[in-house]
Amino acid sequence: MANMEQDHWSRVKGRLRSTVGEDVYSSWFARMDLESVQDDSVHLSVPTRFLKSWIQAHYAERVLNAWQAEMPQVHRVDLTVRSAMRNVAPANKEAAAPTEARRTETFNNRPAHELRATATAPVSASHEALGGSPLDPRLTFASFVLGRANTLAHAAARQVAEGRRGDPVMFNPLYIHAGVGLGKTHLLQAVTWAGNSGPDRKVLYLTAEKFMYGFVAALKTQTALAFKEALRGIDVLVIDDMQFLQGKTTQAEFCHTLNALIDAGRQVVIAADRPPSDLESLDERVRSRLAGGLVVEMSSLGEELRLGILKSRVAAARAHHASFDVPDPVLDYLARTITHNGRDLEGAINRLLAHSKLNATPVTLEMAEREVRDLIRPQEPKRIKIEDIQRVVARQYNVSRSDLLSSRRTANVVRPRQVAMYLAKTLTLRSLPEIGRRFGGRDHTTVLHAVRKIEALVGKDVALQDEVETLKRQLQE
Ligand code: ADP
Ligand code: MG
Repeated sequence: MANMEQDHWSRVKGRLRSTVGEDVYSSWFARMDLESVQDDSVHLSVPTRFLKSWIQAHYAERVLNAWQAEMPQVHRVDLTVRSAMRNVAPANKEAAAPTEARRTETFNNRPAHELRATATAPVSASHEALGGSPLDPRLTFASFVLGRANTLAHAAARQVAEGRRGDPVMFNPLYIHAGVGLGKTHLLQAVTWAGNSGPDRKVLYLTAEKFMYGFVAALKTQTALAFKEALRGIDVLVIDDMQFLQGKTTQAEFCHTLNALIDAGRQVVIAADRPPSDLESLDERVRSRLAGGLVVEMSSLGEELRLGILKSRVAAARAHHASFDVPDPVLDYLARTITHNGRDLEGAINRLLAHSKLNATPVTLEMAEREVRDLIRPQEPKRIKIEDIQRVVARQYNVSRSDLLSSRRTANVVRPRQVAMYLAKTLTLRSLPEIGRRFGGRDHTTVLHAVRKIEALVGKDVALQDEVETLKRQLQE
């Protein structure tokens, strides 16, 4: 039965190839797999969402026709994105084309979820068995481009990935923070892939959400012993998007896990969009534990780094679309204008690829300008930190930063302190309690009072208004 399906599938592919031509076929269908055939419907899969929507938009009918020519009873073709977990580990990424062995495993009659488990490289299987979040096989160290913005974070991540069971842990946890699209997830998944490719090391990658809903629940249903056992099996716990970890119970559970792992000499790696001190809803003990390891920030991508990322994306696309090329002036243009983040850079290349494939035309500067217009955003305002505000205000008023945080109430500190709190409220997204905490543990009502006070004064006092404007300009520079 399985073999018969496989025969049908090869003939369907042959038909597709001859209707669309070799070039189009290898661009869009080479990585399409048969998942199952059931009555009148066929289930196919592709590795990426991009491929899926492209095929659906442009070739759905031809795929169906090809099947009907082979099996007239087929009336439906379902196309899904197959889990990244089923792909081979990045160590063998060059050999990403499905091997015969994998194919035979795929074409039997077991349900899809079972197939998934057996067809996976052992690395991914164990990661999945531990309840890990899906990994993107493209996010590896090999595809991570280095630049000034991420050198330190990358070095620390490599160190963690290359550690071996029993090695002393150098910094724990490793905490990486950066704004959206600056490569946090890329780096964390790279650690996971690389770490898991070794023989007896288990790296578990979890988004904070997954930790909340999955891991905790799974652990709760087991006994305390099983919990400890599960922890013992993990060498590195990787948590992405820590800022989403919310709720008292989850945090308590997380704190417990964190302490247990760190005390057992296991490595913990965390990424978030802000430093530990800014994780407002977090318990003070967790926060200080997080800050107690190595905290590294990745800053925004410089132009050179953006160019590097674009080039590596083009190279990756060319592996499957040999005729695709982006001339240097276009790359320079994109690196110069798409400053926002890595996601937009990826999006730009995808669009150029789609456009040049669809129209079978080479990429030109003019086409690029048209295609990516909406990705070019006005310069993002700088992410201003409370520490920067305190530093700049202290300098301006000739007091020390610790004066601002102290409980001293003399006029020469009270006013600067109020100004600093006011700026913290207006220039950052931090909440009043958070600001209070960052100003020597003051109550949020004190902050509110300061904000109102300065607001009122700025309306009347031109000199103060000037001071505040000057401070704002300095901070935004
Ligand atoms: P974050 O998790 O920080 O929001 P991601 O890791 O998802 O960001 O990165 C967004 C996109 O930019 C991804 O496609 C990623 O591969 C790419 N990217 C970011 N930084 C780099 C880098 N240094 N090298 C290569 N690609 C990068
Ligand atoms: Mg991310």
